Amino acid sequence: MNVNLAEFKLLGIEVKVHWSFVLVLAFGAFIYGAGPAGWLIGGLYGVLTMLLLFLCVTLHEYGHALTARRFGISTRSILLLPIGGVANLERIPEKPAQEIAIVAAGPLVNLVLAMLLTPLALLVNGGSGDGLFNMNAMGVSIQNPGLLNLLIFLISTNLLLALFNLLPAFPLDGGRLLRALLAYVLPYTRATQMAVVAGRLLAVLMAIYGIFTGAIGLLLVAFFVYVGGSAELEAVSSRAVLRRFRAGDALTSNAIVVYTSERLARVTELIMNSYQTDYPVHDLAGQFVGVLTRPRLIAALREVGTEARIVDVMQPASTIPRCTRDADLATVWEKMGQSGSRVVAVVEQEQTLGIITSDDIAEVFHVMGAVLEGRMQRPGPPAGSADTQETQPYA
Ligand SMILES: [Zn+2]
Repeated sequence: MNVNLAEFKLLGIEVKVHWSFVLVLAFGAFIYGAGPAGWLIGGLYGVLTMLLLFLCVTLHEYGHALTARRFGISTRSILLLPIGGVANLERIPEKPAQEIAIVAAGPLVNLVLAMLLTPLALLVNGGSGDGLFNMNAMGVSIQNPGLLNLLIFLISTNLLLALFNLLPAFPLDGGRLLRALLAYVLPYTRATQMAVVAGRLLAVLMAIYGIFTGAIGLLLVAFFVYVGGSAELEAVSSRAVLRRFRAGDALTSNAIVVYTSERLARVTELIMNSYQTDYPVHDLAGQFVGVLTRPRLIAALREVGTEARIVDVMQPASTIPRCTRDADLATVWEKMGQSGSRVVAVVEQEQTLGIITSDDIAEVFHVMGAVLEGRMQRPGPPAGSADTQETQPYA
């Protein structure tokens, strides 16, 4: 099911507008339509206002995404939701200076927009700032369609967007800045933990404020901060555990190998009699040519049955990312995430030593994570499944 209202690609980044965005437009039409301009003009003006507001939000996300690109980090997509935008970065730089640059770029875009629009508003107001930001006067007049009102609206919302995002509520931009600054003096996981605690505190305050003032948007943001912070802490903790191990440690040395010409029936038999879920495929010359992964096997059994040949079903070696024996498992895990492949080939001097699967990594993570926690003699970070790692959302 497609949940997006619109999808388009700009500057090499996919932008997805969630269906619930319709609610934002309806909200704009309703608020402004009830104003002095009447339902038709006011309603249309309300829609225009919301579109422009979200254009500013989108530019904020592009600020993050394009800065990340400078550091070689690509953005899978920018998602627009009624409570704001999210840029899904493929990973987070662990160099604090890079994270600071990426994070700061978002609010900076809004500050620059406000600065650029201010002289325009002054010009439209006859060259003077009189009454421009008089909140009492604005209360009624802001609903009136007009260039000056629109400019005032855009300047104030851009300032608000910048300030709100700079709240130290991880994973909002301000919280990320806090984490990056803490990471100069603390280990990365510890810095994240502290930023998440600060974020949760602010989320609770936001929620209380939201409940008492009826600001539903704020409640949603509080929820996003609370849940998002926890998820990211888990991802950071997992990575810290995985970084301690090498690809060589996770490599199964006595994995069962199958051959291109064999039929799926052989693998179904093997799967029943062993714990192995993914099978390296060799050609008759003994060369590694691909992997028969469990998901592919299951799909093929359903579609073509046990008589299909392995070579027609396997994931070819050309689509399998590679690493060396000394690569750390966090890097291997990252390669899986980036390529969408559940296996990585461990290669040394053009010789394939074997494969590592996402199950292997989950195993290392669960077992060794428990060992490390026990050794540290204190309750560790929440034990997360390595299967849940995704992209890193930048609000
Ligand atoms: Zn942001």
